[in-house]
Amino acid sequence: TVVVGRRVRSRRKWKRVVGVLRELEEACETTVGRLRQVVDAMAVEMHAGLASEGGSKLKMLLTFVDNLPTGIEKGNCYALDLGGTNFRVLRVKLGGQRSSILARDVERQPIPQHLMTSTSGDLFDFIASSLLQFVEKEENGSESSSIGRRELGFTFSFPVKQTSVSSGLLIKWTKGFAIEDMVGKDVVECLQQALTRKGLDMRVAALVNDTVGTLALGHYHDADTVAAVIIGTGTNACYMERTDAIIKCQGLLTASGGMVVNMEWGNFWSSHLPRTSYDVDLDVDSPNPNDQGFEKMISGMYLGDIVRRVILRMSQESDIFGPVSSTLLMPFILRTPLVAAMHEDDSPELTEVARIMKDIVEMPDVPLKVRKLIVKVCDVVTRRAARLAAAGIVGILKKIGRDGSGGITSGRSRSDFKMRRTVVAIEGGLYTSYRMFREYLHEALIEILGEDIAKHVILTVTEDGSGIGAALLAASHSSNNVDSVQ
Ligand code: BGC
Ligand code: MG
Repeated sequence: TVVVGRRVRSRRKWKRVVGVLRELEEACETTVGRLRQVVDAMAVEMHAGLASEGGSKLKMLLTFVDNLPTGIEKGNCYALDLGGTNFRVLRVKLGGQRSSILARDVERQPIPQHLMTSTSGDLFDFIASSLLQFVEKEENGSESSSIGRRELGFTFSFPVKQTSVSSGLLIKWTKGFAIEDMVGKDVVECLQQALTRKGLDMRVAALVNDTVGTLALGHYHDADTVAAVIIGTGTNACYMERTDAIIKCQGLLTASGGMVVNMEWGNFWSSHLPRTSYDVDLDVDSPNPNDQGFEKMISGMYLGDIVRRVILRMSQESDIFGPVSSTLLMPFILRTPLVAAMHEDDSPELTEVARIMKDIVEMPDVPLKVRKLIVKVCDVVTRRAARLAAAGIVGILKKIGRDGSGGITSGRSRSDFKMRRTVVAIEGGLYTSYRMFREYLHEALIEILGEDIAKHVILTVTEDGSGIGAALLAASHSSNNVDSVQ
């Protein structure tokens, strides 16, 4: 009877754990019907954010970029890309003919954790030093007179209220950065002061969000590129909007009749989003509660932590995981690349899952059937993220009339409707390095749009786009090169 009793108890515990998974699956449900509601909500919020300042959680920020690079840009430009996790310095040599980037040098390094929560002086001194070293290496031996005024494109991947194409005030931090003294300040001024402190003669010709840099490079290579999306540590999108649709900025005139709008879609919210108790807890525990709700369901900074919370809950429900590991209580201990590695573990014994559970989470004895459950958790969380990102993309297409519904509103039948080739530039580790994420995103795009429309929508990866694109924009706004601006 003792053995039987134990078996019954263990079966009950297993049932409870499976119950946690079922509940998660239900709460994360993204049927195509629900995704379409998210699409509509995204388009509605875009309108609202363009109609008035503060009209939506979507800030729909002006970028002062009204022309995208076409390929005639010439000369040398530097770029500096401050993202969520890494920091890059680049130099791009442009040939003045379409797609003729003659040379590009990129140096990448992780941003030291302590600088993300230090002072603006510390952060920018570090950045300026790296840039100085890079410039010295690049120009080693060249006559400084032959170099001309150095121009810099500065990619700053946080919400900024731009005051011109080369200046702007930090609205708030995201993605784990918290440098209080910088909020409300002009980020270019902060950088320029640090450059002066290091004695580096360089002018910031363009301040851009990473999405805008990505759109610029995308458009440089392919003129059908209309929007750009980042799905990395954080997530966001930008697109080319008609100035007359930017109602909150009456009388905005540009030569092209358009302007790139930085949506800051990470802050999008809608009651149609499938939210779980884990999302609620993650938000409460985050440094920015009630902020960046869409980002917290989609981007790399958070996915691992959602998975961690589910596994923790399961292990508290039952001892089939072995004793509850105190490591599992640590926020952000399970990074998203590890989720990807577990999710894509195709060994029959799930040895990678076992290794990660043992080495990272300090749970050395997770049996195979539980490892399978963990893979399932990764799948549910990642699939929801990818499908929501797809809905966001279709929301943009809908707003600009590229979702294939145009034929119906203009009175023609759907079958007559001719969908234009539409390219969306994409960047960020989740999309580029996580195959399952990418596949789920593509699958959802097809489900929402239908095969016939979806085949005209092309997602292209622009490697280092956010940095190179900033260099391109710096070149087209350069004082050395005035005649290429138009
Ligand atoms: C920031 C955006 C940025 C995105 C991707 C978000 O957290 O608010 O400005 O584009 O991350 O890097
Ligand atoms: Mg980046």
